[in-house]
Amino acid sequence: MHNYTLPSEVILCEVGPRDGLQNERILLSTDQKIELIERMADAGARVIEIGSFVHPKAVPAMADTDEVARGIRKKDGVEYRALVLNRRGMERALASGVTKVKLTVSASPTHSKQNSNRTPEEVVRSFEECAEFAGANGLTLSGAIATAFGYYAEGTIGLGLVAPLAEAYMSFGVDEISMSDSTGFANPKQVYEYMKELSEKHPQVDWTLHAHNTRGMAMANIYAALLAGVKRFDSSFAGIGGCPFAPGASGNVATEDVVNMMDGMGIKTGYDLDSVIKAAIAVQELIGHESDSAMLKLRRGISAAKSGCTSPACEV
Ligand code: ZN
Repeated sequence: MHNYTLPSEVILCEVGPRDGLQNERILLSTDQKIELIERMADAGARVIEIGSFVHPKAVPAMADTDEVARGIRKKDGVEYRALVLNRRGMERALASGVTKVKLTVSASPTHSKQNSNRTPEEVVRSFEECAEFAGANGLTLSGAIATAFGYYAEGTIGLGLVAPLAEAYMSFGVDEISMSDSTGFANPKQVYEYMKELSEKHPQVDWTLHAHNTRGMAMANIYAALLAGVKRFDSSFAGIGGCPFAPGASGNVATEDVVNMMDGMGIKTGYDLDSVIKAAIAVQELIGHESDSAMLKLRRGISAAKSGCTSPACEV
């Protein structure tokens, strides 16, 4: 007997085309991005973050998000969203047919200062005009809180810094909020406590966990969030999205690893695991290096074993 409950279904948001590719040294072409997005949709994705409408000088890898948005063959039942930081980004989203946008504010005062030269409160307040624009033009908003669990400068980020930002989002009608462990600081106990407290206080909000595997805790954090009642998770094909200044560091949790875990636990994601793995292999080929994905390492190991390994340890 067990006394915990797990959901029967979760929604995985594919953030590889944005959070993954923006941190890669190799810039993919617009056509390559479109192909990857369409492959993930065909593999069963229900939400895909296709890029960001930010200044091209700030994030050169995302400069063509307008063309990507116009070029993709949109599939019924799939939500295509993009990251936006201001009113100008909202206008670009509208002009290129993206109807779901994600705003983001960093809970770490240091990170916020470094990124935007403003406090987290100033940033989140500036989104009110985005909310007005969204309301007037039929766009839907979601909100993200970056560095929601910790950051290098502060160490652990307390829920006391995070909760007011979430409440600011709610005050202008955002009811889907992503808690982003942008630099992989979170541990499962902290994730369980934060997500439990937030979701019990604000059950009308769709809470998302955005996990990075920087310190190897992403899967444990996802499981902890599941136990706290979270049903939405961000992940990236092939687990790309590591910091470009820390070569070899892990990135976003790999979509294929999360799908495999959910499949094993009988929790529906809508994805076909084999198709996700094939798409993730294509991602690794395009970026030209290996990435942090247990399922892809396993796949490579099995191919190596098939081509001549005779160790009894290899159960192919
Ligand atoms: Zn991230």
